[in-house]
Amino acid sequence: MAIKITDECINCGACEPECPNTAIYEGGVEWAISDGTAVKGLFTMMDGSTIDADQRNAPVSVDIYYIVPNKCTECQGFHEEPQCAAVCPVDCCVPDEMYQETVEELMDKKAKLHV
Ligand code: SF4
Ligand code: SF4
Repeated sequence: MAIKITDECINCGACEPECPNTAIYEGGVEWAISDGTAVKGLFTMMDGSTIDADQRNAPVSVDIYYIVPNKCTECQGFHEEPQCAAVCPVDCCVPDEMYQETVEELMDKKAKLHV
């Protein structure tokens, strides 16, 4: 499943550069599928909707760092463990129960992001 950042985040910024999918954003910053990925044109989201990869979207959080679930692969295909959780000094990067995914699904997501 995707990882999420809880409100215990102290905004240290350590996790952001570690994400292989550019799924982590500072609070208040707009996100896009194409940031740090190879995706161009229309992208199909996990819920079946489609958005343009370059479309800039409203921040998930304005106060603390946040993770875009559609871009988080739990680091599958890159690292043995979620890198954000590995570097977070306050252990606030935790599994997001809203997004239950198998390793196979996470690998498919990785392949979609880095074609
Ligand atoms: Fe990025 Fe990996 Fe953290 Fe997901 S688990 S947000 S892919 S660093
Ligand atoms: Fe927040 Fe942890 Fe990321 Fe630092 S490493 S910005 S505390 S989630």
